[in-house]
Amino acid sequence: MTVSTRSPRVERSRRTILEMLASTVDLSDAPPIQAMLDDYTADPARFPAAHRREVPFLDDNPMYTRDYSKCVLCWRCVQVCADDAQYAYAINFTGRGFETMIGTFFDRPMPETTCVFCGQCVGVCPTGALKAKRSGCSSREGPPTRSCRPPAASAASANEIDRINELPRRQVR
Ligand code: SF4
Repeated sequence: MTVSTRSPRVERSRRTILEMLASTVDLSDAPPIQAMLDDYTADPARFPAAHRREVPFLDDNPMYTRDYSKCVLCWRCVQVCADDAQYAYAINFTGRGFETMIGTFFDRPMPETTCVFCGQCVGVCPTGALKAKRSGCSSREGPPTRSCRPPAASAASANEIDRINELPRRQVR
């Protein structure tokens, strides 16, 4: 059996998916996906009536922001927060259909979830939907420390992050 991954039919399907994605989601911080749009000569203007995903910008913790207008629902952040790496299970899918989003249980602010502010979700997000508030706080450089917290972080927030980070993993699952 021959599997073709770049046949005209496959390319047409990918082009259409990219066009639908670009017509509904803000991809301005996603250079790899923009490169794919060029590669497949995708034209988002083909869907001028598409309903754009516009949701509130979330800034509810001292470590990172969440802009789900830029989210392509790739699921990377959910997986790395769960069984792939962190076992914190702070986020998951919410909603159905076009209203599907990544969120916390009962829409709680991030400091009220099991999030340990490891930064893994920020490190894997391909679209800039998740952003560290300061450089030097990405997962590639290890867990957050006091020195990479923004000045605006309250002492209470900083102490809470220390407390959660020091818990044995099983207690925060
Ligand atoms: S990693 Fe980024 S783009 Fe992917 S689902 Fe999470 S927030 Fe959305």
